Amino acid sequence: MSSVTVRVPAKVNVQLSVGPLRQDGFHDLVNVFHAVSIYDEVVARPARSVTVSVTGGWAAEVPLHDGNLAVRAARALAARAGCDEGAELVIHKTIPVAGGMAGGSADAAAALVACDELWGLGLSREELMEIGAGLGSDVPFALMGGTALGTGRGELLRPLPVGGPFHWVFAVADAGLSTAHVYKECDRLREGSPVPEPRADEELLAALRDGDAAELGRRLVNDLEPAALALHPPLAGTLRAGRDAGALGAIVSGSGATCAFLAGDEAHAAELAGVLATTPGTRAAVVAEGPAPGATSL
Ligand code: ATP
Repeated sequence: MSSVTVRVPAKVNVQLSVGPLRQDGFHDLVNVFHAVSIYDEVVARPARSVTVSVTGGWAAEVPLHDGNLAVRAARALAARAGCDEGAELVIHKTIPVAGGMAGGSADAAAALVACDELWGLGLSREELMEIGAGLGSDVPFALMGGTALGTGRGELLRPLPVGGPFHWVFAVADAGLSTAHVYKECDRLREGSPVPEPRADEELLAALRDGDAAELGRRLVNDLEPAALALHPPLAGTLRAGRDAGALGAIVSGSGATCAFLAGDEAHAAELAGVLATTPGTRAAVVAEGPAPGATSL
C-alpha cells in the first residue's frame, strides 16, 4: 500500500462537569462530547521508522519528536500488534492547537486508523479505542465521533442519539491554554467549597436528541470555564461579543482557549462568525456543524 489518508474531527464538550479532585490526582467527569466538522488529516506512508511532519498554520506549535501524540499512537499500535513496521506520518493541521478541541488526541486517533490500515493489521474499532485510551482520555472519542456521554476520566463512552445538525462558530483565541494548568486553577478556585459528584443533565440530552438548538444553547455548561477565564481574562469579552450578537449559547470549549457559540442555522452561524472575527483577541472565527463522524479512512 503506498499511502493511507485519515480524516478526524475536533470536538466540543456541550457538558463538562468536573467532580472533586480524587486521591490519584484525577477528577471524575461527566462529559458530553460532540464531534464537529473541523478536521485534521493524517497521511501515513511506508517507512522504516515512525516519523512525523506537520503542514498548515499551526505547524510551529506542534512537537515533531516523540512527544507528538500521532507518533506515540503509531508506536503503541506497533507494540500491541507485535510488528516492527514504521510509517512516515504527515499531519495536515486545521484543528486549533491548545484550543480545548482535542487536536492532539484527534491526530493520535487518525494515526491509529491509518497505521492499522497501512500495516494490514485489521484491528477492530474497539481494539483501537482501547489502545487510544492508554494515550489520552479524548482519543477514544475521536475514533468514535458523533455525540457521546463520557464518564470516569472521560474514557467510558456511550453514543448518544442526536436530532441535529447543530451549527457552531468557534472563535480561536490568539493564545492557547494548557489543560493541566486549567484543571489546577479549577481546583484552586474551588478549594474549601463542596464539589458535588457530576451528573449528566437529562434536559441537555433531551435537547440533543430533539435537535433543539435553543434549549441546547441554554444548557451548555463547562465547569472549567471559570478557571479558563481566570487564566485568560480576554475570553470573557469574546463570550460577551457572541452573546450580544445573538448566539443561542456561548461557552469555553473544554479547557480553552477556543470559545464555542451555538447558532440557529447556517446563515446565523455565518453572521455570528462575521462579528466574532473582528473581536479583539480572536485569531479566527470558524463555522462548523456537528455531529461529525469519527476518524475515517478516505
Ligand atoms: P484537549 O482539548 O484534549 O485538552 P487541546 O485541544 O487543548 O487538548 P491540543 O491541541 O491537543 O490541546 O494540544 C495540547 C498540546 O499537545 C500542544 O501544546 C502540543 O505541545 C501537544 N501535542 C502533541 N501532539 C500533538 C499533535 N499531534 N497536535 C497538536 N498538539 C500536539
